[in-house]
Amino acid sequence: MNKTVLITGASRGIGRAAAIAFAKENYRVVINYFRSVDSAQELLCALKAEGHRVMAVQADISKKEDVLRMIKEIKDVFGSVDILVNNAGISQQKLFTDTTEEDWDSLFDHNVKGCYYCSQAVLGDMIANQRGKIINISSIWGICGASCEAAYSASKAAVIGLTKALAKELGPSNIQVNCVAPGVIDTEMNRSLDEQTLHALCDQTPLCRLGSPEDIASAILFLADEKANFITGQVFSPNGGFLI
Ligand code: NAP
Repeated sequence: MNKTVLITGASRGIGRAAAIAFAKENYRVVINYFRSVDSAQELLCALKAEGHRVMAVQADISKKEDVLRMIKEIKDVFGSVDILVNNAGISQQKLFTDTTEEDWDSLFDHNVKGCYYCSQAVLGDMIANQRGKIINISSIWGICGASCEAAYSASKAAVIGLTKALAKELGPSNIQVNCVAPGVIDTEMNRSLDEQTLHALCDQTPLCRLGSPEDIASAILFLADEKANFITGQVFSPNGGFLI
């Protein structure tokens, strides 16, 4: 049976790579995007041209009404969501002492509340179907903390807590909830880092390179597969050995 996967923030970066990987495995793929209309449409057209079943829905995952509208649009076309990948997120580098309440709220609204809204919106059907998978994208910084990224690290640690709690609550309904906590990945999220910082990060990584979006897409795809049905509540961290 072909399953429907919703990937939030799939217009670029890790989400885009995941959308391509799922499409190649014959999932029905929903590309969620917010601002990057052109890249989402380009991805939609490319996947459709290859014969994949795919749709794109614009929605701000930090807004409940947008999330509810998105899920309704998906149900009208593909039916219920079988796999939710809570990938959309934002980051910020700032001294903790300079972090405003607006900065803090924005990071938590995007990185944590978005997972809450999207998960709650798909869970009614998953529980009724007695199956489903939720894969939350955290970060190594949610495990070990990053200097000048206190709010981001705290929000990504919250995603790990949410994952573990939901895994316990939803296990009896045969719903697996896991977390992927990537190391440093070569996406636009890290474009603001200077050469020196990027070199230092590579130097600290036993595999001597940044990760690619495809490296993370493979981990997400694995957790979505039925072969991973006995895995729940876990934090899977593809990080090139950065954290051991
Ligand atoms: P990215 O290249 O900056 O892409 C971010 C994606 O999130 C975009 O598709 C963007 O959509 C979407 N997004 C942002 N705000 C949104 C909103 N309000 N509603 C819907 N979508 C929204 O980032 P990335 O590196 O691929 O990161 C993906 C995830 O991995 C994030 O959760 C990030 O925290 C996590 N992560 C990244 C790294 C890394 O080193 N890159 C490491 C660890 C964890 P639009 O462009 O359409 O607005």
